[in-house]
Amino acid sequence: MPLKKDKGLCIRSTDYSESSQILTFFTRDHGKIGAIAKGSRRLKSSFCSTIEICTIGDMVFSLRDREKLATLTEFNPTFLGLEIRKKLLALNCAFFAADLLNLFTKELDPHPELFDQAVFLLQNLRDNPDDKVLPFLILFEFALLSLTGSAPLCDICANCKRKFDADWKQYFFSASARGILCRDCESAFVDKKMIPFECAVCLNQPSKILSAQQQTLIKVEEILIEYITSVLERPPRTADMVLRLIKKS
Ligand SMILES: [Zn+2]
Repeated sequence: MPLKKDKGLCIRSTDYSESSQILTFFTRDHGKIGAIAKGSRRLKSSFCSTIEICTIGDMVFSLRDREKLATLTEFNPTFLGLEIRKKLLALNCAFFAADLLNLFTKELDPHPELFDQAVFLLQNLRDNPDDKVLPFLILFEFALLSLTGSAPLCDICANCKRKFDADWKQYFFSASARGILCRDCESAFVDKKMIPFECAVCLNQPSKILSAQQQTLIKVEEILIEYITSVLERPPRTADMVLRLIKKS
């Protein structure tokens, strides 16, 4: 059976028997794959240790056609994220990102750029204090939504398609309309919320996120989580904790 090599980020992990783990990896070149790591929970296994969520590493695995689960034969961690585990918000953002990667990607459907964005997020969760991590989480969510074809419409009114403009005076967002709404269209959508101009600008131009005020960032994150919940038709299970932590900060 040919062995494949790739870089992978562990996004789910379940113990399987006394000594093994069933893992889900988001890999750079093969997309999402499920894999069994036989003996990974043994002290003296061919893996350095139990493989934890949000660990990144160089992996070798075999995957037969039509087989659902790959067999992981080697995993050499290049990023353990131990510093992330010491910070409450960073850790919950990392779990949330892993959850989103699992929910928004399909097996064997590679998105190398999204993999790189996930690595960038984890590095920033590691390198920044908790009060500076929110912009990086938001940028990752925008990248994930756009690269998986689920981005909200924020450069035009999602209903009448008029171009986003600083002269609109009032701005609304509706998850059911899948984007920003102008004043003429908002009344047709019961779930719409009026949003501040700064917030609309960040949705329209995500590059503004890095210089936005914390209050604006919190509002943008609330909108994104509501939108993601609507796209998935259920809330990601880690979203609630992230929201609670950022509102406390
Ligand atoms: Zn409109």
